[in-house]
Amino acid sequence: MTNSRKSAIETVINRETIKPKIESAKVSEYFGSNVFNDAAMRHYLSEDAYMAVKAAMKDSSKISREMADAVAAGMKGWALDKGANSYTHWFQPLTGLTAEKHDMFFTPTIEGKGIEKFGGDALVQQEPDASSFPSGGIRATFEARGYTAWDPGSPAFIMKIGDGKTLCIPTIFISYTGESLDYKAPLLKASHFLEQAALPVIHLFDKDATKVSATLGWEQEYFLVDQALFNQRPDLLFAGRTLLGAAPQKGQQFEDHYFGSIPERVYAYMLDLETECHKLGIPLRTRHNEVAPAQFECAPMFEEVNVAVDHNSLLMDLMERIARRHKLRVLLHEKPFAGVNGSGKHNNWSLSTDTGKNLLSPGKTPKTNLLFLTFFVNVLKAVNEYSDLLRASIASANNDHRLGANEAPPAIISVFIGSYMTDVLNEIEKRVAKGKYDELTNANLKLDIHNKIPDVMLDNTDRNRTSPFAFTGNKFEFRAVGSSANCAQPMTIMNAIMGKQLLSFKTEVDKLIKDGETKEGAIMRVLRKYITESKNVLFEGDGYSEAWEKEAQSRGLNNVKTTPYALDFYKTKKAREVLIDTGIYSERELAARIEILYHTYVLKIDNEANILADIAVNQIIPAGVNYMNTLSANIKGLKESGLPASAVKAQKEILTALAEHVNAIKTEVDKMMVAKEKAHHSKSNDIASKAYCDKVKPLLDGIREHLDKLENLVDDNMWPLPKYREMLFIR
Ligand code: ADP
Ligand code: MG
Repeated sequence: MTNSRKSAIETVINRETIKPKIESAKVSEYFGSNVFNDAAMRHYLSEDAYMAVKAAMKDSSKISREMADAVAAGMKGWALDKGANSYTHWFQPLTGLTAEKHDMFFTPTIEGKGIEKFGGDALVQQEPDASSFPSGGIRATFEARGYTAWDPGSPAFIMKIGDGKTLCIPTIFISYTGESLDYKAPLLKASHFLEQAALPVIHLFDKDATKVSATLGWEQEYFLVDQALFNQRPDLLFAGRTLLGAAPQKGQQFEDHYFGSIPERVYAYMLDLETECHKLGIPLRTRHNEVAPAQFECAPMFEEVNVAVDHNSLLMDLMERIARRHKLRVLLHEKPFAGVNGSGKHNNWSLSTDTGKNLLSPGKTPKTNLLFLTFFVNVLKAVNEYSDLLRASIASANNDHRLGANEAPPAIISVFIGSYMTDVLNEIEKRVAKGKYDELTNANLKLDIHNKIPDVMLDNTDRNRTSPFAFTGNKFEFRAVGSSANCAQPMTIMNAIMGKQLLSFKTEVDKLIKDGETKEGAIMRVLRKYITESKNVLFEGDGYSEAWEKEAQSRGLNNVKTTPYALDFYKTKKAREVLIDTGIYSERELAARIEILYHTYVLKIDNEANILADIAVNQIIPAGVNYMNTLSANIKGLKESGLPASAVKAQKEILTALAEHVNAIKTEVDKMMVAKEKAHHSKSNDIASKAYCDKVKPLLDGIREHLDKLENLVDDNMWPLPKYREMLFIR
């Protein structure tokens, strides 16, 4: 075996488990200890400053400069007590990673000494060196600077890296001209828009609610691979996924891994991750093996969507960092291994009021059930209207590999609601007959579903897992989101389409009331209409089946499998209605964002093509040639020793096959480089992304086929890269 591969495998086999640093059995004793949370604020802030932050958190009211100074002073005091000597604005640029720029509290004084300084200005705004973050042309045309601005809605925290500690302040990232350049700013706008649209609807039922927020509970899937093996795979190192690799002999008998016992090293990793998360106030609660070998999942208790998104970004950061401590590498890519399950990040989404009501949870009385039904049916209508935007919101080069392959939802957006809710909707449709106002008021429709729904939902263990968007009892679960995605994008779209939908609903109800209907009658009538109109998007069957692809097509549902085409949905009239007319994006912001997304796709495929070409030419062809030399020497030797031709038959066959694959690889790589060059020179990012998708990407797949065939032919001892079986099965 090649020396480096062999020694990597030996390293893995001999690894000791790294002991996790357990704080205490009781998480409650240290949960949030590194967060400037309510308790810390009460301790470190004046009454006025505390009230100012609370008000900003509740209804986004502005914090005065004077108050900002007071808050900064308190935050600094807390951070210094915690041992942090620097601070950073922490933000989520469109690269998909988190970014930070650290500054020290320390400021030298003229006496040659110094003091620790942190004022309101530094808290509220910072100017990171932002020229390397994507701006979709916004900054190039105006002004190179970008600003970060404090988001009081997400608490500051202390990040510990090694022995260094830094106060991190969650911020939005905007251009000099005020345009959003990150994930958070549009999410905040969409959440605000949704709240404004939802409150009047809630007030039809509950006059006391003053606030409503979207809630998000994400479930993060990931793979873990030993660092020694990871480092020997340039594709994992630079693309986050394997670009080649023959299927392991063990085949797909992977189910034994699911909910099986967690390997010891992984368990130690999970414990460390949980401890760090808990200190940072990330309410992780579940951990388990996933379907594929070496695949795992963690999930927290749900939170307000803005905080939940920040927590997921923070988690992904922590996952990578803590994995290194355990000599592991975490793969957040949606499809690290071909032929093996991919990783998603289910986004569980709901709405809840400050009166403690989950709006997607069926209530105990007919009246609260009507509230539930109102929001439930409006979600269906929103998804039916804007399913293409949801598709666009989860589009990425990574996720293209996952959607519709190996146990992942297809690229068709449909909604699963279960047989019970299907019956309820059918009943409403039947009974709330058009124009029969009297029957409604006669309480013909009792809405006594509260007796059944909770039980049915809890017992319903075989929930349809093949749906990209499923009702799961008290929330909807958007399952098509990719594991490496920032949840903000799908959540922004979700909030936007729901807000838009609720505005229409309220208008329609008001009109009926004005025309003389009772409130309940008006609501039921509009819901009935929506039920009829939303049927197209409802699907209860097997979302993985070919039959569904056909049916979806006949229903006119889109099945867009690749990112460059899915992104086009952002340019439609409907997208403008929901994203621009609502003020969530300005015209330029949306245009810039689409540019960035097309361009990101281009960079991704271009990068993969380069890596694949490099591995193919510099590692795999030489391995093939080496083995060919061995074989031809052997054939020559056997012939010289006078053996008949039949003795070298097998060697000759293998040799011929090797030569064919080696030649094909070289030819195809050359072809790919030409196609890449051509795509690269397209007139726009939009056109380039499509060229990369249609002309370059298929060549990568073609090359891979030859590489994988070669892997099955070449002497195992000569193969330079760790194999699938080694990465997936050696613990
Ligand atoms: P499964 O793996 O069966 O889908 P989990 O229990 O792993 O279910 O995940 C459920 C997720 O849904 C958790 O993150 C949980 O916090 C979240 N969740 C539960 N209720 C709500 C809600 N009202 N809003 C948003 N998320 C929720
Ligand atoms: Mg789930």
